[in-house]
Amino acid sequence: MLCLGIESTAHTFGIGIIDDKGKVLANEKSTFTTDKGGIHPRKAVEHHLLFYEFVLERALKAAKVKPKDVDLVAFSQGPGLGGCLRVGAAAARAISTICKVPLVGVNHCIAHIEIGKQTSGFKDPITLYVSGANTQILAYAAGRYRVFGETLDVGVGNFLDSFGRSLGLGFPAGPKIEELARKGKKYIELPYTIKGMDFAFSGIQTKLDNLAKSGKYTKEDLCYSAQETVFAIMTEATERAIAHINKKEILLTGGVAANKRLAAMLERMSKDRNVKFAVVPFPLACDNGVMIAWQGIIEHKAGRSHKIEETRIDQKWRTDEVDIPYIKSE
Ligand code: AMP
Ligand code: MG
Repeated sequence: MLCLGIESTAHTFGIGIIDDKGKVLANEKSTFTTDKGGIHPRKAVEHHLLFYEFVLERALKAAKVKPKDVDLVAFSQGPGLGGCLRVGAAAARAISTICKVPLVGVNHCIAHIEIGKQTSGFKDPITLYVSGANTQILAYAAGRYRVFGETLDVGVGNFLDSFGRSLGLGFPAGPKIEELARKGKKYIELPYTIKGMDFAFSGIQTKLDNLAKSGKYTKEDLCYSAQETVFAIMTEATERAIAHINKKEILLTGGVAANKRLAAMLERMSKDRNVKFAVVPFPLACDNGVMIAWQGIIEHKAGRSHKIEETRIDQKWRTDEVDIPYIKSE
């Protein structure tokens, strides 16, 4: 069985094609980027409208398949930016109607977890899911992925991108901050905002913006200090989660999982705690169509599909609102 998955929650329009054994046939995408500002939602929509056919053509070509070979279409139904989600949903409805194949709308955040489980072979991890808009510590319990800790304001990726904007780094700033941080030498004290299992990044960002404006610090030291602080916060909360619940695996997934320093901190903590650690492979870390296609396969196997009228997008669809019928509780 072949599933074509469409991702369009924010900056990326992606199409992935995967078979039911987990073999990736195509992972094509086009990402909206800027030299200076952040993501402008309307411009991101224009980007998706401009490039979706091109991405589709490239994906079919890379997979060496025709539309008639596709058995299932999946798309990101939420959460995300309304206009962006609608482009993906419209494309998915059209393809499923033309190809006369079932359609499944999936939760984007859960797709980030499941693709990480698929690539790592982990069965029941605690997941640190770090992306642009979302930052959550998740684990399966009693029919759903439960949120054990999360950001109280912005996602860690958005934090990095906004801070990067004040340094004039453009979007996405995360990778550029990682590079600058490697050359940082001096740790600058920043607020350490963790509240129980939850954490917040806005205050740290304000402080960093002020420090940057003062002109007293190098970009490298600011980036280094930003990373060390927020990554330590998330590692601490994840460690607390693993200490409380009896799980033996830690999975790092989402776009910020591409960051080597964050992965190193979590790996070290996992070693200390004697639990396994895995990070999602780079091509599947940032938003991509493959994870949506894989989520479609899993959910379709569990009997889920949607009529067109059930495919309205949901901008605020939380991870812990989704029933997970395909995991059998012990
Ligand atoms: P996603 O929304 O899952 O596609 O993740 C996108 C986010 O990941 C953006 O905020 C990027 O700045 C961030 N990101 C990508 N690569 C890195 C990296 N190497 N280090 C830190 N953040 C990154
Ligand atoms: Mg994402």
